[in-house]
Amino acid sequence: MSKRKIAIIGVGKIAIDQHLPVIDRSEDFKVAATVSTRMIAHNGLPVFKTAAEFYKAMPEVDLVSICTPPGVRHAFVREAIDAGKDILMEKPPTPTISELDDLVAHADKKKRILFQTWHSRYNEAVDAAKKIIKRDGVKSVRIDWRESVRKWHPGQEWVWEPGGFGVFDPGINALSIFTKILPFPVFVERAKLNFPANRQTPVDAEITFKSDEPNQPELSAGFNWLEESGEVWTIRVLTGRGDTLLLENGGRKLSVNGAPVIENPDNEYEQIYAHFAKLLKKGKSDVSDAPLRLVSDAFLLGARHNVDDFNW
Ligand code: NAP
Repeated sequence: MSKRKIAIIGVGKIAIDQHLPVIDRSEDFKVAATVSTRMIAHNGLPVFKTAAEFYKAMPEVDLVSICTPPGVRHAFVREAIDAGKDILMEKPPTPTISELDDLVAHADKKKRILFQTWHSRYNEAVDAAKKIIKRDGVKSVRIDWRESVRKWHPGQEWVWEPGGFGVFDPGINALSIFTKILPFPVFVERAKLNFPANRQTPVDAEITFKSDEPNQPELSAGFNWLEESGEVWTIRVLTGRGDTLLLENGGRKLSVNGAPVIENPDNEYEQIYAHFAKLLKKGKSDVSDAPLRLVSDAFLLGARHNVDDFNW
């Protein structure tokens, strides 16, 4: 089967760390071009300063992956839909729900395929946890998601701008797992957001969730972006049967009552592109807005506290 051509829009950290190498190894896709304001090419392939120039020069390429920061995603995705492309979008989709709703409606109207990726969901351990929770129910969930912004977003000023998500940029990955594994809807009850006094987005957050479940499970999350000792990406679930499920490594590892059940290497982006290939075959879009809704609600309900300035 011949590989389908795809272009990368926005050649930053995630495009270089994941999208480009994963597509190079893919059986379904091959990179055809990049769109880069800094004119970063891939393996000598064509590079364009703007998406409009790329659409004009290479109309035969009908797939794009949009790997920009979320703040500019709506404009890039709209432009791609209007150019007749099918689209894979990095997370978080957009800074607002109304922009995401518009993209879903516009893609539907123009009969384009839109795939909103949530990379942390693409883990066997996450699927296994979901299955156990469906069978046994939930008494509590505690999310702890801590990492270093200096390591994962080196020098990226956009993360601190309004709409840049701050610590919710990684935190939304935890919420993408949370909203996948729970079989009932959850709501933000309250949130405490700690903003560096010199920045526009939080560096730390503590969130309490609620649900309409009769047993009132305890549900909470803590996100922090100043963890320099390594990543803590864990979700601890106490099931209705009293078992403790521990998802670690961002959803790659599952243990039950301390006994390892599944541990896989990182192949989230391989799974994402395999899923995109399936969606294209079926002619179906796949957009889940639940993680963005929780983030949006945390910002709406969150109490703001100022903490120390953040400097790189
Ligand atoms: P990044 O290194 O800042 O790269 C984003 C790229 O988008 C820039 O290098 C730039 O590429 C392009 N761009 C276009 N318009 C831009 C604008 N107005 N401001 C800044 N850049 C603009 O960011 P990233 O870490 O790759 O993150 C991109 C997206 O991937 C985010 O939504 C993030 O949440 C997600 N993500 C990141 C990671 C990670 O480890 N950092 C992991 C998973 C997902 P050109 O110079 O080529 O134009």
